This record gives sequence, C-alpha cells and structure tokens, in this order.
Amino acid sequence: MLELVEDKDQENIIGLSREEIGDRFLSLGLQKFRSGQVWHWLYHKGATSFEEMTTLSKKVRVQLGKIFSIKRPTVSEKQTSADGTIKWLLQFEDGAKAETVFIPEEDRGTLCISSQVGCTLNCSFCHTGTQKLVRNLSSSELVGQILIAFDELSAWPSAQIGRPLTNIVLMGMGEPLYNLDNVIKALKIIMDNEGISISKRRITLSTSGIIPEFNRCGLETDVNLAISLHAVTDDVRDILVPINKRYPIKELLNACREYPGVSNSRRITFEYVMLKGVNDSTSDARALIKLMEGIPAKINLIPFNPWPGSPYECSEKKQIEEFAKIVLKAGYPSPVRTPRGDDILAACGQLKSASVRERNKKSRFNEGLQEVRLS
Ligand code: SAH
Ligand code: SF4
Repeated sequence: MLELVEDKDQENIIGLSREEIGDRFLSLGLQKFRSGQVWHWLYHKGATSFEEMTTLSKKVRVQLGKIFSIKRPTVSEKQTSADGTIKWLLQFEDGAKAETVFIPEEDRGTLCISSQVGCTLNCSFCHTGTQKLVRNLSSSELVGQILIAFDELSAWPSAQIGRPLTNIVLMGMGEPLYNLDNVIKALKIIMDNEGISISKRRITLSTSGIIPEFNRCGLETDVNLAISLHAVTDDVRDILVPINKRYPIKELLNACREYPGVSNSRRITFEYVMLKGVNDSTSDARALIKLMEGIPAKINLIPFNPWPGSPYECSEKKQIEEFAKIVLKAGYPSPVRTPRGDDILAACGQLKSASVRERNKKSRFNEGLQEVRLS
C-alpha cells in the first residue's frame, strides 16, 4: 500500500491546464513527459488516485499524492428517467450545489453543464435567476461535472468509438460569459485530444448576450454559440431578458454577424422560449425571420417550463406548431424541444434551486421533460 496523505493544502490537479501541470512538475524536478502521463491517466482513463497510475514509479506516485489531490464534486442526488435521461445534483467543496443533465439520443449523448451556482441576470421566465446564492464555478468544478458524468456512464477510457457522451452544452445554471476565464480553461481541458477529446464542433455555449465577451469566446474556444433571444422587440426582451437594456437586440444581432467563424455550415442557434400571449404570435414569428436576415441561423423553439410562482404560461401546442411552420418555411431549421417522458424533472435551462426542489419533490417527478437537440 502506498502512503495515504490527508492534507487540506493539497492542490486539486483537476482543472489545472496542461501548462500549469507541466510547470508544477518542472519545479518539483519531474521530467516534462511525466505530466503528459498524468494527463492521460486523469482525462483518458479517468483515474481517481495517483496510486492507480502504474506507468509512474511508486516514488513519484507517493510524491504527487502528497502535493496534489484528484477531487471531483460529490453526487448529492441522482434521478434517472425511463428514457435514459439522468440528472445529477452535484455538491462542491463549499456546500454549493449545481445541476448537470445527461440526455441520450439515438445518434449522440449530450451533457448539459452549469457555469455558475445561480445567476445574476434575473430573466423573468427563468428559475435560476431567482436563486440567492450566486458564484462562479471554478475550472475544476466545470471539468468535474464532466468527469462525474463519465464515471457514472462508465465512459472511460474517454475516446472510445460509440461513446455515450459525445456533446456538451453550457445551458445549465448561470451565464457562462460572466465566467469566461474559467469556462475557457475548462473547455481547453475538455477539448484536449489526449484526454476527454470532445471537439469544438460538439460543444455549444448558450448566452443571454454579453456582447463584449463574444469575440474572446469565439477566438479562444471557437465553440458553437447559442443566443437566448426569446423576443423580437426590445420592449418585450427588456422584460424577459433584462440584460437587453444594456445589450439591445440590434447590437446583439450585429455581434452575432461578426462572431468569429460563423458561416452557413456553422450557424448560430437562437433560442426562443414560447410564452403564451407574450412572444408567440404569428407576427412575432415573421418579425423573427426578418431579424435573422443575413445571419447563418438555426432557431430552437423551447416550450416554456413553468416553475412555482412563475409569471408565464407555455404557449399552446397549436400555437408553437404555427410559429414553427412559419420559421421553417423561411428556410430556418427550427427543432422544437418536445416534452418526452413524464417520470422525472426538467432538463437544461430549467434547473431548480435545492430549496424549491425540496418543497416540490413530489410534483417535480411529474414534470414533463424537455428534449434538447442541438448540433
Ligand atoms: N445563461 C445562459 C445559459 C443558461 S440558460 C442563457 O441564458 O443562455 C439555458 C437556456 O434555457 C436559455 O435559453 C434559457 O433562456 C432557457 N430557459 C431558462 N429557463 C427556462 C424555462 N423555465 N423554460 C424554458 N427554457 C428556459
Ligand atoms: Fe441567467 Fe440564463 Fe436564467 Fe437568464 S436564462 S437568469 S441568463 S441562467
């Protein structure tokens, strides 16, 4: 048995960049290739201890175990739907919690991760915005969500053919562009092709529209962008997505036109939550098409998922179909996220705080589950 060390001062190696690990190893007098070996164990094989890293000598394993820890968040709750969707409530070291959802489909498996605990933006239809505690998730907490999913899905080693988890969407709790440093760091770890190796084409970042960060997001991550548009006039969007007062529709769409790498083969997804009598008329649909002019776009219509005390209702099914027909006719792919299964929870973007979850434990099990389909 190797010596076990319990030390709070150990640094969590999960979430450190390749360069940071390399630098730390150099200062410990370890050769550079050692850091590559450790990276492979962590992110290709999913190692949870240095002890199991058998390509390293015992001495090095003990040395590393004294300096670093390999920590993941802990699973505080888990729910599995009959259709295979899994939702984990994860707890971080300070006790804060966030949700991660896995949505299996025929040709892919999508993991929806959170970027913050809560959100500062208070969109009037979103439950996350009502949560009191808000903080950024660290790169280790961002990557940790993916490691937990790989563990739970028995998906190690990471780069298998036909692997269960193929796509990542940043559509859980929080505004990822308000936590861009950590998001970039985590995405680089996730995309590294000697580790988890999920390509940028299979990662989508959803934002309420923090324009000043678009360029950096595009240049440094080059992942797909999804915009939470939800309205066709500033008057309505000011209420639904209050950050619109700072970054109004016209400027937002101009910034989309300039998003690095955008093209017909790499479209921007526009998310549009369907709210009865608020933004769902056929003239709204026509105005939406007009707004999209000149932007390589996909439109994703999302049936509103109500939460206790929410001030809106979901549009009628017929109305959503009418709306979708107009959008489709104009040549925009517009998948509707359709309810699928009634045995568990809600999916991305409709995540609930722990306190409300406790109060609504029963009703939650009867909520419709929303299907997420993003490229
Ligand atoms: N903050 C980012 C990402 C998280 S929200 C953003 O706003 O884009 C992910 C998506 O879920 C957003 O499009 C959001 O508008 C949507 N969403 C939030 N609450 C919802 C609800 N109750 N019903 C349906 N979609 C919701
Ligand atoms: Fe925050 Fe996005 Fe919810 Fe708005 S929709 S409150 S930006 S998580």
